Amino acid sequence: MSAGLHYVVIGAGSAGHGAVTTLRARDPAARITLVTMSRLPFYNRFDLPRYFRGTTDWRNLLAVAPQIYDELAITLRRNSRVDEIDGRARTLTFSHKEVVGYDKLLVCTGGGGHLPEVLVEYKSLMHGFATFEDATRVARALPAKGRVILLGGDMIGLDLARTLIDTGHRVTLVAGEFTFWPHRIDAAKRAELLAALSRAGVDVVTGRTPVAIEAAAKPARRVIFEDDSAIAGDVVMPFFGSMPLVDFMLGAGVDMERGILVDPRLKSSNESIWAAGDVCQIWSDELKEYRFLHGWKNVRLMGELAARNMTGAAEEFDVTADFAIGIDASGHVQSDFWEQ
Ligand SMILES: Cc1cc2nc3c(=O)[nH]c(=O)nc-3n(C[C@H](O)[C@H](O)[C@H](O)COP(=O)(O)OP(=O)(O)OC[C@H]3O[C@@H](n4cnc5c(N)ncnc54)[C@H](O)[C@@H]3O)c2cc1C
Repeated sequence: MSAGLHYVVIGAGSAGHGAVTTLRARDPAARITLVTMSRLPFYNRFDLPRYFRGTTDWRNLLAVAPQIYDELAITLRRNSRVDEIDGRARTLTFSHKEVVGYDKLLVCTGGGGHLPEVLVEYKSLMHGFATFEDATRVARALPAKGRVILLGGDMIGLDLARTLIDTGHRVTLVAGEFTFWPHRIDAAKRAELLAALSRAGVDVVTGRTPVAIEAAAKPARRVIFEDDSAIAGDVVMPFFGSMPLVDFMLGAGVDMERGILVDPRLKSSNESIWAAGDVCQIWSDELKEYRFLHGWKNVRLMGELAARNMTGAAEEFDVTADFAIGIDASGHVQSDFWEQ
């Protein structure tokens, strides 16, 4: 199609993987580089709870055989963190200071866990759950039948809660405004869903705001609330929704809000930069707002669509899709955020 163009895709999750395979199918002559700061090639983050069910070898979590990138002549750069983008010069700088040029850039860097300001200073006393390494660390810290305190909840935390209960652990959920994020629900629905979580074996704490975490002897952590009351557990995990990973984009000259702002064709305000997946907010003509569309299926489709548009198409992403949430016959919370 366009011999010699260099496409760089930052992020080797669902969005980035969908993008590079589409780019190669549409532009056999191009140079394509896929960059990830992870040590591992593409694995699905939603598979991480499987670690607690015994899948502790990372090779069994890979979503595709890594040889696929060799076969498609795609350069995969692992362990490579991008620190800076120069949107005018069309270069990116790695944390090891190497500078690489691109013709067209797609940003698929996903999101990291958001933490309320009051809890930031206690970060080292909590366990995140965004990477394979995180899953390894939390599994090591959690004794058999141990108690996990989930702060917030969100769909990822609730997904993990189901696994932890199935695997014989105890779960306390400190519920708050983020418990069913990214769903938008009213108070009645919220009460119904919290009751379903209790029936499913989760100890639900409501109406108390956590303000501090303390290290203790046994169990290892205490969560302190605004009213000075406290609860104890082996591990504390914050789940307050995701915050796009965009720090490295500050010099790129693209419009950003919480994420990278893109039009329905997933193009940013810079002519040579597109974004897809959890990192972007897409303009909706209908809603008159930029919105996130999380979830595995959505982000893969976004990556593929962005790649088609980078190679000449002019397709628009359907921004109207919404996630449904409900309760199944056995009393478990069901969300189509979890659809695969
Ligand atoms: C535990 C868990 C369970 C989930 N369950 C489900 C589910 O059941 N169903 C569902 O639909 N969705 C689920 N999700 C959400 C879904 O996984 C996300 O929407 C999806 O992974 C986002 O894909 P992405 O490609 O945008 O980003 P990610 O998958 O987050 O990938 C981001 C990539 O960017 C790289 N990166 C980030 N910053 C840099 C940088 N500066 N330099 C280089 N590389 C960088 C990372 O290393 C990574 O390769 C779950 C998520 C989690 C964490």
